[in-house]
Amino acid sequence: MYQSFIGLEVHIHLLTKTKVFCGCRSAFGDEPNTNVCPVCLGYPGVLPVLNREAMKMGCMVAKALNCAIPEKTWFERKQYFYPDMTKNYQISQFASPLGQNGYVDIEGPWGVKRVRIHECHLEEDAGKMIHTGAVSFLDYNRAGVSLLEIVTEPDMETGEQAEVFIQHLRRMVRYLGVCDGNMEEGSLRADANVSINLPGKGLGRKVEIKNLNSSRFVRLGLNYEIERQAKTLDAGKTVTQETRLWNQNRDQTEPMRQKENAQDYRYFPEPDLPVFEPDPAFLQSVKNAMVELPLPRQKRLEHEYGISTEQAAIICEERAFADYFESAVAAALRVARRVSADLDKKSAASRIANWLLTDIKHILAREGVALSAIGSFKLTVDRFACLVAMTAAGSLSTKNAKQTLELALAEDRDPVDIIREKGWEQITDPVKIAEVVALVEREEAATFAEAREAATAKNQKRRRTLAAFLVGKALEKTQGRADPRIVGEQIQAIIGT
Ligand code: ADP
Ligand code: ZN
Ligand code: MG
Repeated sequence: MYQSFIGLEVHIHLLTKTKVFCGCRSAFGDEPNTNVCPVCLGYPGVLPVLNREAMKMGCMVAKALNCAIPEKTWFERKQYFYPDMTKNYQISQFASPLGQNGYVDIEGPWGVKRVRIHECHLEEDAGKMIHTGAVSFLDYNRAGVSLLEIVTEPDMETGEQAEVFIQHLRRMVRYLGVCDGNMEEGSLRADANVSINLPGKGLGRKVEIKNLNSSRFVRLGLNYEIERQAKTLDAGKTVTQETRLWNQNRDQTEPMRQKENAQDYRYFPEPDLPVFEPDPAFLQSVKNAMVELPLPRQKRLEHEYGISTEQAAIICEERAFADYFESAVAAALRVARRVSADLDKKSAASRIANWLLTDIKHILAREGVALSAIGSFKLTVDRFACLVAMTAAGSLSTKNAKQTLELALAEDRDPVDIIREKGWEQITDPVKIAEVVALVEREEAATFAEAREAATAKNQKRRRTLAAFLVGKALEKTQGRADPRIVGEQIQAIIGT
């Protein structure tokens, strides 16, 4: 058996309105080469200007990753030639990354695993090349877009851990509102480094799998590599240090280029950008922009509301969904006081979690509404809370609550109005129910007699069947509005046991 080492380099596009060193619009999917200017096209003699918002967002991520932000941070030129980068160098950070020496804890079947963060640094993205047959196209809209690179130490051991790391990071940056996390569009992409060695021998010779655009491919690619490298060593050969690509059609990694020695990028400090010294006002603005992060929030919801770990995890998948949940509980408690429902925080939370994770989730999927957009969904928190509180108060049956929910959505109306109009309010008054039961007793005298005989003869099966039939009759007379529990009790009392 070998020991494996996995380190990730994750690139995220920051959601700044403009690029990192010029005023061009930063957007995905625009007409090619429309968001460009002399700065991001690399004309000679132009001057870059640092986008402070990009620096702020970068520092937010650094803080969320428990990194230290240095007193001085600056930029270097990383020299290399490539057609998607017209300057022939990329402005990046080398000696003084904006975030240093952090960590994140990832949870899974392995327990809690601490993954150290080596650094995160701000840089500019390159343009995009599109190859079609004999022709290649270049789109520089992406050139100069704010990119944050997050580099971990080689602390992970399995594809599963790396997958969870990516998912964890994705959720985190989305909570912070600094990246949309869209991996298909390339807003979050990962390079995965992996080596294996005999236990206790330290790091092996690493292979880098480049440009993984889904967390699943990260897992598959790494696990494939670990197995391939083990077979290579088992056969008495050595692993070639190289860069490989994941071929999703063949489910395997394939060589891309060999990288025997570290490339020499001839880094030197960018002379056109001043050193950035985060002042107290800047650090305060970073602090103010921080939000409760997904994992702490998940744990808080679990304890504060008494919901299960699984429920809390799904609710916290999206910040907007968790916000909706918490507002709904608060609103349900407010309504409950009005309709005198016996509802405390935990029972309200349990009901709301159940609704959210079943009916509401289905409805959102059906209507094509993303969980992250639930805040602007037509089922407002107050309307939803009203349904929950009325069901809890026993003034609305579960069946009618579901029908009300559908109508409230279809007609974009208040559930209370619908319930009143349809006369769906549940009948819980025992006197009213006794009147209905008496009516059924007259109409179904023969059945009642038979049920009483069955009860006396201790024929429980027959008694139960007849009782259920009689309850059904009583419910029919009230269009299903009578509380079935009370109806059942009254009929039982007449029949005997
Ligand atoms: P490079 O100089 O090739 O960019 P770095 O030392 O900067 O390499 O590391 C890049 C990434 O590769 C980091 O995430 C790091 O944790 C990981 N890494 C470095 N060496 C190894 C190794 N031997 N096995 C697995 N991962 C490694
Ligand atoms: Zn520009
Ligand atoms: Mg490196």
